Amino acid sequence: MLKVEGLKVSYGHREAVHNVSLTVEEGELVTLVGSNGAGKTTTLKAISSLLRPSGGTITFDGERIDRMAPHQVIERGLVHVPEGRQLFPDMTVLEHLELGALRGRPGSMGFAERLRWVYDLFPILAERRTQRAGTMSGGQQQLVAFGRGLMANPKCLMLDEPTLGLAPIIVDTLADTIKSLHKSGITVLLVEQRVDLALRLADRAYVLETGRVVMEDSAQTLLADPRIKTAYLGL
Ligand code: ATP
Repeated sequence: MLKVEGLKVSYGHREAVHNVSLTVEEGELVTLVGSNGAGKTTTLKAISSLLRPSGGTITFDGERIDRMAPHQVIERGLVHVPEGRQLFPDMTVLEHLELGALRGRPGSMGFAERLRWVYDLFPILAERRTQRAGTMSGGQQQLVAFGRGLMANPKCLMLDEPTLGLAPIIVDTLADTIKSLHKSGITVLLVEQRVDLALRLADRAYVLETGRVVMEDSAQTLLADPRIKTAYLGL
């Protein structure tokens, strides 16, 4: 479904992502893990066309997307839920959800039905629908960003650090939500710094270090790998 080949991304003259190749098959949950600054966010931004690659190709459903505008990528059902807040502080929760639906992939569910689905997944968004995003906690804002992404009717959801800033109990709930979205047929590319959580959720994983893929395997194999245990799981 998603194929990245030889991706290079630079900030000015400095290349941050060197020759990254990865694939996500339809129905898979793939995770991209690695420490701070490894290039995970940069890779996701290039896939969603927020950054222009300096080399390589990106295809989605057999179509080259690496020269498209971000909204064209979203319309095809490849939706990026960015790290952190990245919301409009003065807009309400509902306005963010409306915004998500504006450019989304056409689908069988109408706006009202889709909204109900998102509210069922994250009841706090229904409770706070008229609250301005800027007045919410970091974790709640994270859920607004997640809900906004879902309103676009994704085929493939790219989640950048969805658990960042969330209280532990909410992390577990969110992990269950990701699992059930995946079970419902949404393909997922998950970027996470909580490597244990990511590997427990995923089918397959890529490990990124200083802009390069250094390991790739089934999540189960990586969970048992001594190098992963020492470097990322603190074991
Ligand atoms: P994090 O979890 O901290 O977001 P990451 O693995 O997502 O880490 P990136 O944010 O993709 O890593 O960063 C990869 C490299 O690119 C780092 O060396 C970072 O300093 C650099 N970088 C990221 N954003 C910019 C930017 N806007 N301008 C210049 N360099 C950047």
